Amino acid sequence: MRSSLKLIVYESKSGSSVSRTYCGPPHALKPRLASNPKTTNPCIFILTSAKTFFGVLTVLWDVYLPWKFTLSIRIGALKVSNLVKIDWLTVGPFQTNVYVFKCLESQKSVIVDGGGEPQKLHAMATDGAELAEIWQTHGHIDHVAGLADLRALSDAPILMHRADLPLYEGAEAQGRVYGFPCKAPPSVDRFLEDGETLSVGAHQAKVILLPGHSPGSVAFYFEELKTILSGDVLFAGSMGRVDLPLANPRAMRESLDKLWELPDDVRVLSGHGPETTIGTERRRNPYFAPGSF
Ligand SMILES: [Zn+2]
Ligand SMILES: [Zn+2]
Repeated sequence: MRSSLKLIVYESKSGSSVSRTYCGPPHALKPRLASNPKTTNPCIFILTSAKTFFGVLTVLWDVYLPWKFTLSIRIGALKVSNLVKIDWLTVGPFQTNVYVFKCLESQKSVIVDGGGEPQKLHAMATDGAELAEIWQTHGHIDHVAGLADLRALSDAPILMHRADLPLYEGAEAQGRVYGFPCKAPPSVDRFLEDGETLSVGAHQAKVILLPGHSPGSVAFYFEELKTILSGDVLFAGSMGRVDLPLANPRAMRESLDKLWELPDDVRVLSGHGPETTIGTERRRNPYFAPGSF
């Protein structure tokens, strides 16, 4: 049987995450995966058809089981002609997750939160794709600190909600207070509106305004992919801080209630901490349930 697999392996090493993509038939993938023994906590996304799933299981079983790693296997329902890749990096002293969403079909990419490591982030975004836009979940310093250097590498427009402009424009001064060097970010090119639809190639994300952690916090919801980039609103087991300047606990409550409406199987990619799902948070997150604060 001739089959080609595409595996995206997210590896977490000493607090920073990287992703690697492996393509090819199972017998070729096995040695390549095995030759990378530094991998710890791999999270593997399999983009393949059900037909080749057993081939994938064989590869993973042989390569990873002896190492006793925790595996998280997801079988994508995506067609090869319609592939999406989401890479992330965890950057800076606040361990901020920044994401690159890539439509492999149209070869367009978007950076979500230029929080740091601008060279790495830019290299990820332009690896086989054209960086189309930079979307900001909000304007806090740890999410904007790489924007000035990113602008030097790309003129991709920066999109953010207007209500976070005071935080965004104050980032450099805030950096001096926190001892966290932050170059003044370039001006925002376009302001996001609640409910508008953004595109990356063939894929659409709805902008959902979720004030509370900051007045202009937004999430990007890829409904067809059952994935939401939630910024600092909802975390695995927790929520964003509401004791910072311009934060508002009551608004946060309403924003969490909006997210509560989403289906259980929506993947949540947060601004900090590990990936989770709406269903998992519904069961275990003490802040998420309506009326809990
Ligand atoms: Zn924040
Ligand atoms: Zn943050």
